[in-house]
Amino acid sequence: MSKVFKFGGSVITDAFAVKKIAKIIENTDDLRFVVLSATYNTTNKLEDAYRKFLNKEDYHKVLDDLLLHHIEISKDLNLDLKNDLRELFNVTHDSKALVGLTSEEVLDHFYSIGELASSKILSSYLSASDKKFSFLDVRNILVTNTVPKAASPLLLETKKRIETLDSEKVYITQGFLGKSVDGITRTLGREGSDYTGAILSWCIDANSLTIWKDVEGIHSCDPSRFRRTSIIKKLSYKSATTLTRLGAKVLFSRTMEPLENKGISLFVRSVFLKNQGTEVCHEGSEFFSVTAKDYDTTDSIVSVVFSPEHKLISKLLENPFKADFFEQGPDFISFKINKHREEDLIEKILDLQDTVDCK
Ligand code: ASP
Ligand code: MG
Repeated sequence: MSKVFKFGGSVITDAFAVKKIAKIIENTDDLRFVVLSATYNTTNKLEDAYRKFLNKEDYHKVLDDLLLHHIEISKDLNLDLKNDLRELFNVTHDSKALVGLTSEEVLDHFYSIGELASSKILSSYLSASDKKFSFLDVRNILVTNTVPKAASPLLLETKKRIETLDSEKVYITQGFLGKSVDGITRTLGREGSDYTGAILSWCIDANSLTIWKDVEGIHSCDPSRFRRTSIIKKLSYKSATTLTRLGAKVLFSRTMEPLENKGISLFVRSVFLKNQGTEVCHEGSEFFSVTAKDYDTTDSIVSVVFSPEHKLISKLLENPFKADFFEQGPDFISFKINKHREEDLIEKILDLQDTVDCK
């Protein structure tokens, strides 16, 4: 029996949020790994610092502001992590860590600071009251290939390393990061922390992975843009993968691979609510979901992903809104539309869904 939790950056905002996350962790039995993203918006800022570093502009200001923000959070938690955090954020052009790296590898190094800082804070906070919580540098266990910015894990090697860990501990570790066999820090791709949760779950044959977010689960359309959404209770691995491939940002698209392979359930739920949220497993329920992604600078692809028996499909195929069909698969239909009309099309699809529901 074991569980893996992953907390996204959107819920790691300040000391209050860290305490909230800590409560959830402390109240859970059989937890093995807690995977953390960088604190809210930190990865974007690190990317900005890296760009300045490359262009020989002043990148120290961005790093100093981030350092201060993290020191502030740790102070509010009564932790003295000034020295640890300073060491992490201390990147200089001649720093030993960067010698011999390509520019993409330097970016991976910049990225790694965010996750290392957030996990340092949470693990210090938790271990102050219970020694079973322990900081783990995920780069010591998660072995990857040598592709910068989008590395793939070497699962069997990673599993072997995990077997050497202390089985009594609950490890607080970083999402998104790994290390290739040549000893270089790699990242799994932007938003890749979900994937880390899935990789570690695969390695320990976890019972479940829970991805904790600021939204209640996987919605029928992006809740930050549309009010008329509902939660999808149960989704198959296949549908969840289709959704992410067609633009839904709720999960990193490769997350489902290791989970489906071993039939490990994924729960997507909110830190603010008691509800279970969405379960992703082998069998989904009847559902539909609308999502959009860029086609180019002027057009978008709007897609409807659905369970095969859903009544909306025949209506969609009649194409009452006269949008251009783009692509169709057994579980989705896509339309190509000018960006200005994207929102309108999505609203019309939701209207159509309402009429189907009323019948
Ligand atoms: N912090 C990384 C990012 O923002 C990875 C993640 O949060 O999943 O892309
Ligand atoms: Mg994410």
